Amino acid sequence: MRAVGLYVHIPFCHHKCGYCDFNSYALSGEIVSAFVDALHREIAYCPYAGIRATTVFFGGGTPTFLDGKTLADILEHLHQQFAIDADAEITIEANPGSVDREQLRILRQAGFNRLSFGVQSFDTEELKRMERIHSPDEVLQGVCWAREAGFENLNLDLIFALPEQTLERWESNLRQALSLHPEHLSLYALMLEPNTRFYHLYQKGKLRLPDEETQVAMFRLAQHLTREAGYRQYEISNYALPGYECRHNQIYWHNLPYLGFGPGAVSFYEGKRWMNIKHPREYVRRVQAGESLELESEQLTGWDSVAETILLGLRMIEGVDLAPLEQRYGLPVQAHYRPVIETMVAQGWLIQEGSRIRLTDEGLLWHSEVAMAFL
Ligand code: SF4
Repeated sequence: MRAVGLYVHIPFCHHKCGYCDFNSYALSGEIVSAFVDALHREIAYCPYAGIRATTVFFGGGTPTFLDGKTLADILEHLHQQFAIDADAEITIEANPGSVDREQLRILRQAGFNRLSFGVQSFDTEELKRMERIHSPDEVLQGVCWAREAGFENLNLDLIFALPEQTLERWESNLRQALSLHPEHLSLYALMLEPNTRFYHLYQKGKLRLPDEETQVAMFRLAQHLTREAGYRQYEISNYALPGYECRHNQIYWHNLPYLGFGPGAVSFYEGKRWMNIKHPREYVRRVQAGESLELESEQLTGWDSVAETILLGLRMIEGVDLAPLEQRYGLPVQAHYRPVIETMVAQGWLIQEGSRIRLTDEGLLWHSEVAMAFL
C-alpha cells in the first residue's frame, strides 16, 4: 500500500464570503455536532485503516469554526486509524476572525505543526468588500498567538486582483504580510466563480476589477518582493522560505494518492478518484443510514493519468520529469508529447532540459493554455 496524504474537510463558516466557491455553509446548531459524529464514523469505517500517511491537512470551510478540543479529538482519531509519520506535516487552516489564544495552544499541543491563516488582505475596505469577518488587527493578533503557541510553520493566504485594488494597495498588502515573517505565502489571483455573489455583480457591471496588465504587474510584484525577502516561488501561487514548501499540496501537484474525509472531500487512491456528497446534512444522513458517501467517481487510466500528472506538475516551478512517468505509467510519454512540447517551446512558454519540462517565467502566466495543449 502506498503512503497517502490525509485531508479533513470542515464545511462550516460564520458567513459565506462574496467570492467563495468552496464547499462551505453558514450553518450552526445541531448540524455541527451531528457532523462531528458522522466524521468520526467515516474515519472509523475507512477501508484503508493502517495505511501510512505522510501529511494531514484540515481545510474548509473554516476548521477553526470548531473548538480546539473537538479538532484535537479528530486528529487523535486519525492517529488511531492510520500510521501517521512521526515527522508528518499536520496543517490546519484558520480564519483570523475565529481563533483564540487557548484554541491555538490546544491545537499545537495536539500535534498540528503548520497553521495556514486565510488573511486575504490587510486592507479594511478590501476585507469588507470581500465580506470577510476579520479585521487587519485580528490577523496581527492571530499571528502573535500562533507564535506564542509554538507554531514555527505559518502560511498566510492573500488574494490579489480584488475589486478596486490598485498596484499600490497590493504592494502594501504584500509588505505587511512579509513584515510578519511567515514561513510560507500563498498568493492567488481572484477567480470569479459562477454561483458567487461577486460573479453576479460582475455580470451586472457592478464589480470593477483591475485590468489584465495590472494583474500581471501584481503577479510580477509578488515574485519580486518575495524573492527579495528570501522566499522561493516553488509553484505558480506559492512561495516558501527554504525547507517550508507545503508537503501536503505537493502530493496533489505530483498526482500522488490522498484520502479525504468530510462533505465534498476528494480522495485519490489506486487510480480511482471520488468525491463525497457535498452538503453536510446529506452527508450526516448517509453516514447515519450506512449509505455510500460517494457523489461521483472515476477510474483514471493510461493517458488520462499521464496528462493529469503533467498538468499538475507544470504548476511547480521545477516542472515535471517525463522519464519517470514512462516507468510509472508504462507509456511512451516523451515520444507522444514531443510535438506539443516543441510547439510550446517555440511559443516561449516551456523549457525542455533533457527529459524535464517546465514553464518559463512567461509560461507561468499561461498555465491553463499550456495545460489545454497537453489534454
Ligand atoms: S471563510 Fe473561506 S471558506 Fe468560508 S466562506 Fe469565506 S472564503 Fe469561503
